[in-house]
Amino acid sequence: MRFRYKCLISAFPIVVIIGCSQQPTEPGPWTAPTDGIHYRVSISGLPRDSISIMATLGSRPAGDSVRFIVPPLYADNPMLDQTGRNFHNIKIVNRANEKVSVSFDSIRTGNITSMTFAFAAREVPVRISYHVTLNYATQRDYMGIPAVSATGGWIRGAHLFIVPYTSPGLIDIWRTSFDLEVFWDIADELVLLGDPQQVAFDNPYQLLFSMSAIIDRSEANTRILSQRTANGQAFRFVSIEPTISIDSDLARRIADDFAEIVGDLSASFGTIDNAPLTVILRGANKGGLEGMYAFTQLDPPHIDSLDVFNMVLAHELAHAWVGVRTGDVDMPWWKEGTATYLGYLIAKRNEVAALPPVIDELVTQNYSGRDEVKKYKLTDEYARVNLFEEGASFGKLIYMKGAQVNMLLDTRIMQATAGNSTLDEVIGPFVQQHEGGAFSWSEYREHIERESGADIGDIYHNFIDATGAVPLDTLKQAFNWMAKSGAWGIADTLP
Ligand SMILES: [Zn+2]
Repeated sequence: MRFRYKCLISAFPIVVIIGCSQQPTEPGPWTAPTDGIHYRVSISGLPRDSISIMATLGSRPAGDSVRFIVPPLYADNPMLDQTGRNFHNIKIVNRANEKVSVSFDSIRTGNITSMTFAFAAREVPVRISYHVTLNYATQRDYMGIPAVSATGGWIRGAHLFIVPYTSPGLIDIWRTSFDLEVFWDIADELVLLGDPQQVAFDNPYQLLFSMSAIIDRSEANTRILSQRTANGQAFRFVSIEPTISIDSDLARRIADDFAEIVGDLSASFGTIDNAPLTVILRGANKGGLEGMYAFTQLDPPHIDSLDVFNMVLAHELAHAWVGVRTGDVDMPWWKEGTATYLGYLIAKRNEVAALPPVIDELVTQNYSGRDEVKKYKLTDEYARVNLFEEGASFGKLIYMKGAQVNMLLDTRIMQATAGNSTLDEVIGPFVQQHEGGAFSWSEYREHIERESGADIGDIYHNFIDATGAVPLDTLKQAFNWMAKSGAWGIADTLP
């Protein structure tokens, strides 16, 4: 993909010229990429505080200056008002190894302040080196767990990478196409599980969802719990949390269940390039976090109750396509609503989750009294930008009403095709076509209607682009229609 650097900002009300007391890089000759940005991440030991990164920018953009956002601690929207406290020792040199002046400023991305830096475009090609403090994020990270401990590292792109600033709009920043390449320079005694050692990303969003575990090579036997392949997709589970106890029976059961999920989702959405998928078990919270080549599972597993665990696994795996490799431009609900629905559906129809939690979340729980459901539409950009902001409570709107809407879409597709097609089968090829980019609601609707023959306009106008809860009767009718057609693997319907 060609390097397209569209936006240049030249006004910097706050200007700080800094010197560098510590030099994270070695001097000497270096090569700039002809296109895009190359990142080199150097990890010399299991890191406690810092990793050194070099980003080389080869193409000279139009305009007077080049601006980057420092690692934005991003999880669907920027998480943490930050003034660069996780970001240290920046040094920029030009092709002649001369130091380039850098100025700092801040921008609002969503409702969060992010630090940016800029330098003169005439200096390109340049090499930018810096350090990050990974555990800074845990001070207010929504997961509340250290990135790095004595036993393992949890390495997220959102904590590591500077990304080009292209526009005040989040969607534009994250989905603008770039050639982004990462090379991991890891000490011999460590093993990187997640991203391939040399890997390309299509846009900043994908880069921020880079995720890997780093473990000590001598501990690999105990940290890698299982390795399998299902429907051509290799996967492995790795634990970097010594506090979770997973014996061989539980490890086998988890891999057996996940093989069903992988087999089903990959049939509709495809496999993940040539890389094995890594599931990083943290066991320290609820839910998970999606990623490009790895995702993180926070729910601790218990052999007697893997229902929710498996629904979360299916949700996060669906995100590999639904949201991470492919995005939307005007459907704030789509990524989480669709992954939540598919998480329930895929786990239930493969018999790795029980039905009661599915019925509770998708049908009987009443969201009509909730402020965010009364006040906001699923289409409100405000809901996405504030999804995880402290004090915001958009979970029921975006995740649950979003999932219910997907059940209505699925039912409509099944009805229009006499049960021959389901939502995942219809949208799978569509999101693959848009890999590395984003699509609009009108393109999504046009695809669904053309492929299935269903008219979904009323679902959009009554429930997606409208405030309020989906009526219970509407949900029951959809659930029961699906149940009769065998979609949930049950014979009974709801009264
Ligand atoms: Zn999600």
